[in-house]
Amino acid sequence: MFVIFKWYRHSFAATCLSILSTTFYAVGAFMLVGYILDLENLRREMSLPEALLMAAVFLLIGFGCMKLAARVALNKERKLAARNAARPAPIRPEPAPVSGGFCPKCGAKHEAGDSFCVRCGAKL
Ligand SMILES: [Zn+2]
Repeated sequence: MFVIFKWYRHSFAATCLSILSTTFYAVGAFMLVGYILDLENLRREMSLPEALLMAAVFLLIGFGCMKLAARVALNKERKLAARNAARPAPIRPEPAPVSGGFCPKCGAKHEAGDSFCVRCGAKL
């Protein structure tokens, strides 16, 4: 049947519209089912074309609300995306590469990150 219920992450309005849409769908469906099953004396109160028309109107409104909710949500997403694109990503400073040095004891060259001198074993 219909995919009628959907939560929108960023848009409260779209979520409300979605709930509204679901309500209209429910009423429309109730009209149809109610008429077929003759609930609440629906058949006595209205003719079949009337019931069908009412159900169709409710379903249409529900459909409209759903479309509107989707559009509102899409606009919101686009706005958020545009805002994110406008804001430049923070430039993370690259850590300066620690260059190797010379052993303070024997003067031998050592690589960056070495803890001990490879020649004399002194702590660097
Ligand atoms: Zn050394």
